[in-house]
Amino acid sequence: MDLRDTPAEAELREEIRAWLADNWREGMSREQWWAVLAETGWAAPLWPKQYGGRGASASEAIIFNQERQEIGAEPPPRGIGVPMAGPTIIQHGTEEQRRRFLAPMLRGEEMWCQLFSEPGAGSDLAAIQTKAVRDGDEWVVSGQKVWTTHAQLASWGILMARHDPALPKHQGITYFICDMKAPGVEIVPLKEMTGEAIFNEVFLNEVRISDDLRVGAVGDGWKVSMTTLANERMALGLGGLGGTAAGAPVDLAEADAESSLETMGKLIARGPHALVELTRQAGLIDDPVTRQKLAKVFTMYEVNRFTGYRITTALMKGQGPGVEASTGKLAYNQLVRAVADYLVAISGPGAMGAVDDDKLLKTAERLNLVVPATSIYGGTDQIQRNIISERVLGMPKEPRTDAEIPFNEIRKGAA
Ligand SMILES: Cc1cc2nc3c(=O)[nH]c(=O)nc-3n(C[C@H](O)[C@H](O)[C@H](O)COP(=O)(O)OP(=O)(O)OC[C@H]3O[C@@H](n4cnc5c(N)ncnc54)[C@H](O)[C@@H]3O)c2cc1C
Repeated sequence: MDLRDTPAEAELREEIRAWLADNWREGMSREQWWAVLAETGWAAPLWPKQYGGRGASASEAIIFNQERQEIGAEPPPRGIGVPMAGPTIIQHGTEEQRRRFLAPMLRGEEMWCQLFSEPGAGSDLAAIQTKAVRDGDEWVVSGQKVWTTHAQLASWGILMARHDPALPKHQGITYFICDMKAPGVEIVPLKEMTGEAIFNEVFLNEVRISDDLRVGAVGDGWKVSMTTLANERMALGLGGLGGTAAGAPVDLAEADAESSLETMGKLIARGPHALVELTRQAGLIDDPVTRQKLAKVFTMYEVNRFTGYRITTALMKGQGPGVEASTGKLAYNQLVRAVADYLVAISGPGAMGAVDDDKLLKTAERLNLVVPATSIYGGTDQIQRNIISERVLGMPKEPRTDAEIPFNEIRKGAA
């Protein structure tokens, strides 16, 4: 692809730079910034204008993201609302649902979580067992969800539940919006090895959900969830495409205030220059072995940058990230692992259990502990490799024996 901006893109980039210079102020609270983004449509540029977006093209959204990252401006509201729940409600929801949910989502006033994974359904998501039983104008939902990020902070959850176990597994699923404060929703935080508890088990004990909160037709849950997951891939693709923010300072102090995942994302977005600065701070910038390791990590950043261009190209051609998203996610996972290993290497044994207030040691420790998550969320490394082997390398498809038989006849759990 031609990596230079077209004249129209260059003009847009200038406009966006000027807009950011006028609107983003260092020290602004998240809420203030999100309000500005929501008001101007930049919180979700790809959304149609009537729902609070700008009706922008993928290339416009990418340019905005690049310029935003370049100056270190905060991203739009956290959580899965804007990138995943919003586009799903726009595509499959009712007009009433769009009016009720989209505006507070864009302003970050209501946080959303994703109630998809279950103890027996992660990679094989269509194996969900949470039940939804119709009762007049309501559904009674019971089951267990797991790994639900930010469930404890969320107002609403997007929920997949099985309304008919006698149908084949992909067909018996319906999609709902679940009030996370409703009676019967029990949230149990799961403490991770970083010491934080960003994700949770969510027990649904006869939770009553109005039929008004069903998204799509009864039985269309799998199709609707594919929209959510395609938008997740799109967000992963766009998220990794910022500038390298060569000049952005590395302030490890702020790492204290964030989750480990956020610290990791910000450090990676700052590019290899951040590692050079940290190496200097550690007094190792002239050490030949360290320089060799740094060069290796730098190479991986470059691999990621070029893999990112593949995703950009696909998005700009309006194709949506297909298999490029899988290669991009794998390359990203390898990069974050290499960055964590590098930080541990320059920190020494102190990174194994930082007890004092040394910011570098603490960051190295947290990164090292949180890195395994990236090879699991949004589809594990093995699943991405399956996709690449089937769709790029043309290898034989995995045998799928249970897609056509009624779900309640499929053997579940351990033998
Ligand atoms: C940080 C984090 C946040 C998350 N947030 C959410 C959330 O908010 N909401 C939500 O619903 N879920 C969330 N998840 C769950 C995530 O989507 C699942 O963990 C993931 O899809 C894997 O499912 P699983 O954990 O059930 O593992 P399994 O699917 O049981 O997989 C176990 C192992 O077997 C391998 N495996 C499975 N099937 C195959 C196959 N066909 N071929 C080869 N290998 C295979 C896997 O790669 C893995 O190594 C989150 C996970 C993490 C780590």
